Amino acid sequence: MPDHHSTFADLGLKPVVVHALRRVGVESPFPIQTAVVQDALAGSDILGRAPTGSGKTLAFGLPLLQRLSGGSSRPSRPRSVILAPTRELALQIEQALDEPALALGVRVAAVVGGVPVRRQVDRLARGVDVVVATPGRLEDLAARGSVDLSSVTISVVDEADRMADLGFLPQVVSVLDRTDADGQRMLFSATLDHDVDELIRRYLRSPVTHTVDVAPIAERTAEHYFFRVAGPEKDSVVASIAARDGRTILFLRTKFAVDRLTDSLRSVGVNAASLHGDKSQANRTRTLASFEDGRVPVLVATDVMARGIHVGSVSVVVHVDPPADAKEYTHRAGRTARAGASGVVVTLATDSQMPAAIEVATAAGIDAHFVAVTEDDPVLVSVIGARRPPGRPVAEHFPASATGTSAAATSGSRPGRAPGSSRSPRRGATGRRSGRR
Ligand code: ADP
Ligand code: MG
Repeated sequence: MPDHHSTFADLGLKPVVVHALRRVGVESPFPIQTAVVQDALAGSDILGRAPTGSGKTLAFGLPLLQRLSGGSSRPSRPRSVILAPTRELALQIEQALDEPALALGVRVAAVVGGVPVRRQVDRLARGVDVVVATPGRLEDLAARGSVDLSSVTISVVDEADRMADLGFLPQVVSVLDRTDADGQRMLFSATLDHDVDELIRRYLRSPVTHTVDVAPIAERTAEHYFFRVAGPEKDSVVASIAARDGRTILFLRTKFAVDRLTDSLRSVGVNAASLHGDKSQANRTRTLASFEDGRVPVLVATDVMARGIHVGSVSVVVHVDPPADAKEYTHRAGRTARAGASGVVVTLATDSQMPAAIEVATAAGIDAHFVAVTEDDPVLVSVIGARRPPGRPVAEHFPASATGTSAAATSGSRPGRAPGSSRSPRRGATGRRSGRR
């Protein structure tokens, strides 16, 4: 049994994997990884329950890659499928597995909605070992015969509860039904409610269950503030928070509200970008990349963003619209203070919203500070560095991308590669993961 001090090598991972992880700054396993890797390497079905940010991707991803290494997949017949609820998550999984996959000679490609089918079909036809997909798009390609899933011997369902929330279970079922019935299956979820039980019963055979029960928030070093603001002052409080230095994510309930706030922030000189489900995939990818590389410090988002997106060091998360419940609070708040970093989570509530907000805080089990604030309140300055917005409107959304040469203008954390770039994509059906080095 691995103990707390196991290394990745102790867990049975090959030296090339250990070195690949070291190259991206991953030195020692997180608890869920220590718990899962050996069993997954042994081929067991796995049921993993762990909160957001606990490191599930590598927990299932490393054993999966290592088990596939050495073999090869025939055209359009991948040997593994990883299902994720959103495009962003699928792309992040692909990215997280990039180094170890490269080291093991395993080909990984994302197949997500919102990018041209043609390119994905071509990519699959050139041979892909692991498909990281949103269930709808993959089911689509399978149904039309563009991909044959019968050789899939390792399937992963990531964020199963989220899949259920989004109504994707029929497609998940349909994809899993096409895979090898004797294959290994792993299912991960922060919670096991919803219809997740049903999936587990149907697809996992005597799974090894691993639960890592860190209170998702309390464990981390986030501080939680509930600011009570008068309705008429709320807009200027939001603007002064958004004008702070450092990466900030603002959550609102509707796409309309997100766009409206983004425009209004930009009109007072805050370089904000919006992220929600109506944006094209290219736009969302570019927005995340700009946020990640710091050119756009403020992201205004609906809850599409609230889960599983890993942008390092977001120092402040603001619930501009108070979250509906503890679960939503937790998912949104999980964007900051990741992997032990510190962060501040702010909820803005008007008088009438305050009682519900207090209930949410109680249910989320957080130790929150409740403070009444006015615009220009020194508390805003001391807690999060709020300041008056510059006032001069921000002109373009992505000023540096016009040249196409600016590092990371459009390419996530990989400098110099634009999505859809003609530079022969070696990995990744999205074209985003073009050959590097
Ligand atoms: P989850 O899927 O459980 O929400 P992720 O797998 O996305 O979590 O990991 C969360 C963050 O922690 C990511 O930024 C990832 O790079 C980082 N991470 C994962 N495992 C390790 C590790 N062993 N050491 C350091 N950082 C890690
Ligand atoms: Mg995850």
